[in-house]
Amino acid sequence: MPIALLEDLGAPLQVGDVALVPEEAAVVELVFDQVHGGVTVNGKISVVWHAECSRCLSEVDGLAVAEIEELFEENPQEGESYQLGEEFIDLEPMVRDAVLLELPVGVIRCSAIEECLESAPTYLGSEDDLGGSQESNEMKDPRWAVLDELKFEGE
Ligand SMILES: [Zn+2]
Repeated sequence: MPIALLEDLGAPLQVGDVALVPEEAAVVELVFDQVHGGVTVNGKISVVWHAECSRCLSEVDGLAVAEIEELFEENPQEGESYQLGEEFIDLEPMVRDAVLLELPVGVIRCSAIEECLESAPTYLGSEDDLGGSQESNEMKDPRWAVLDELKFEGE
């Protein structure tokens, strides 16, 4: 059960205001199997993320678990498999993709509902606290719009 620090990967992993906690190790549990023309990787990656509540700005931490079921091959198919190196497998692109997809996007809410409402700056308003639709809590991140167009066969 190897443990890797994602901060070693160079660029910070962040979606909007949600970032990984650098001091927290990501737990990477993966099983590698050799198949014809490639290597399959199965398992999961767990990371702790950190953000501020969108309303009261208090700190919010959460755990994101990415399920991994990927294929590395010599001639990878864009969006379907990853590049298999000659001697080593570069897991970074896969880890980044998997973890980024599991980070929450849109409005982050803390769990202290009452305190949160009381401490909310008034300029933020509270429309979505009066029984507003779920949609208002799930702002679409335009960067992920392209993902809506992706079709995964066999899923
Ligand atoms: Zn809050």
